[in-house]
Amino acid sequence: MTNTLFDGLFHAVDTGKKLADLEDGRTYSYQDALDVSARFANAIIALGVKPGDRVAVQVPKSIEAVMLYLACVRAGAVFLPLNTGYTPNEVDYFLGNACPHLFICDPAKREELAPVAKQNGAKLETLGVWTSEDTSAGTLSNLALKASTQFQNIARAPEDLAAILYTSGTTGRSKGAMLTHANLLSNAQTLVELWRFTSGDVLLHALPIFHTHGLFVALNVVILSRSSMIFVSAFKTDVMLEHLPASTAMMGVPTFYTRLLQDQRFTKELVSHMRLFVSGSAPLLAETHEQFEARTGHRVLERYGMTETNMTTSNPYDGERRAGTVGFPLPGVSLKITDPDTGKELEKGQIGMIEVKGPNVFSGYWKMPEKTAEEFRADGFFITGDLGVLDNENYVQIVGRTKDLIISGGFNIYPKEIELILDELDQIVESAVVGVPHPDFGEAVVGVIVATDPDNFDEAEVLEILKPKISRFKQPKILHVVEELPRNTMGKVQKNSLRDLLKDSFA
Ligand code: AMP
Repeated sequence: MTNTLFDGLFHAVDTGKKLADLEDGRTYSYQDALDVSARFANAIIALGVKPGDRVAVQVPKSIEAVMLYLACVRAGAVFLPLNTGYTPNEVDYFLGNACPHLFICDPAKREELAPVAKQNGAKLETLGVWTSEDTSAGTLSNLALKASTQFQNIARAPEDLAAILYTSGTTGRSKGAMLTHANLLSNAQTLVELWRFTSGDVLLHALPIFHTHGLFVALNVVILSRSSMIFVSAFKTDVMLEHLPASTAMMGVPTFYTRLLQDQRFTKELVSHMRLFVSGSAPLLAETHEQFEARTGHRVLERYGMTETNMTTSNPYDGERRAGTVGFPLPGVSLKITDPDTGKELEKGQIGMIEVKGPNVFSGYWKMPEKTAEEFRADGFFITGDLGVLDNENYVQIVGRTKDLIISGGFNIYPKEIELILDELDQIVESAVVGVPHPDFGEAVVGVIVATDPDNFDEAEVLEILKPKISRFKQPKILHVVEELPRNTMGKVQKNSLRDLLKDSFA
């Protein structure tokens, strides 16, 4: 039997081909990836990891961390990456929930994380960057360095788990989404074909690798298509401007695009040779889409996905990439818009719950059978929690998360509708609309905005402009000016923190 994901990704690989250029000047070939991932696989098995064991990893982005991901797949373990921003207290929850055999952290954090690993019964090892055979590279790195480059992959069936990724958990505790070998491989196969990745591509990789976007979408697509990548630790405008000329494709969150546009050195000439710009993980403003095209001549390809479903929809490669939409369901993926309460399919043009089914959809939440049961319909459709609508030509448009829906005076209000209107005003750069407690209405609409000219922003004037544009019950009661919207590393606006900030506005 084969190892579904690893054999699928590396089948008949041309080992001499380059996989990655690193910031420190090193390069990695596909042969290096086979050798180093084998070393790590041997090392984790020597540490007692058995098929099905979880290996939790909280380390800064590095090619070694990518090798560790591949090693876990080869060894039949379940890779469990954690956001580098999580505090020891938060890590404690994940280790307690997932019960990993091994926990691998940054050598610099060993001391503060040792008690957390200990109380959860996980063996603690460290992973650093291998610039030379030095001992500061981490205990796991040193073990791997001494291990063989030969490794017999452990057989794994399509339905076996390859990874657990915890959701960002903006409501309640994070849940561990169980992703199978088949989920990850099938999604990579679909995206390579749809986005036309080939061995001639060079992806500029600046996303974090603890999240589905940078980890699975970017890395699996690169490997499966035998592309190479320029692998940088994080998005920095200067670094991107330096490497874009040697790249053919970039995958980014919307903030990548807005930041590039803010820099006058980001010109049409700089990216004239590029083949593809992909955006996802958070909504790309139609305005950004348009500005990007005006500046570069490229239309960003926006897609939609989530930790639980991998990628679900994409704008077309050929054909119109429609601003403000996330395109069509991927081949093999069924998507419907339903009445959130009954699950009954709605007509085109009606806003409802986005439900999806397909080989991309996860197998459930780790150790949470009730949560899993709640979020799947009897016919196998996963209830995403995202509200959406199909336009005339079946492009999917995302309206927001269900939990962000505002109910004011008994009326449903979709924040996105108001955000789009606010964003169009000259006085406003961007906005986030939230509902906050109100003694009369239950919730009141509040617009949090970044003003074009904060010193001269006139709230009353803007509220007046809005009057003829939106019905009264949807009009914001307050426009609260902030310097910038709070976003997480994936570019998602943190509406929870805004609701919290403004919760006493009408108290
Ligand atoms: P995560 O699980 O962290 O990947 O977050 C998934 C959520 O991000 C989805 O459920 C959507 O709410 C949001 N999301 C992802 N891609 C897009 C997109 N292109 N436009 C709007 N929202 C998106």
